[in-house]
Amino acid sequence: MVLSWQDVLDGAAHPDDGRNVVIHEFAHRLDQAHGAANGAPWLPGAVRRRQWADTFTAEFEALQRRVARGEGGLIDAYGATDAAEFFAVTSELFFERPDDLAAAHPALHRQLRGFYGVDPRHWQGVTPRLGIASKS
Ligand SMILES: [Zn+2]
Repeated sequence: MVLSWQDVLDGAAHPDDGRNVVIHEFAHRLDQAHGAANGAPWLPGAVRRRQWADTFTAEFEALQRRVARGEGGLIDAYGATDAAEFFAVTSELFFERPDDLAAAHPALHRQLRGFYGVDPRHWQGVTPRLGIASKS
């Protein structure tokens, strides 16, 4: 994986704006761990895979409809590009705007929390979330 260092710094400079190229690209990498990126990273068990597919399909289609109507919202329109981008864009929100994602898309937040095995809502106020100290 090759990332623009400036993009990495830009993403870290605003740790709660919901945009972070490192999270985005690592989400794609996790998605690709068992084949082509398709927005359905590997999960143990048919039940969890079906829950993921049901939730992500419904949320992805809702975003596509919202974008087609020209409406704004929490999830960036780029997530409507395809299912892989949807997973990457919502992963950025999961880590950078967890309270907003949980409030607006609770089922989606629940699936991401299960996949990543962490709940970044509890990180706030404890440590700078995914921040990188700038030396410049
Ligand atoms: Zn992407």
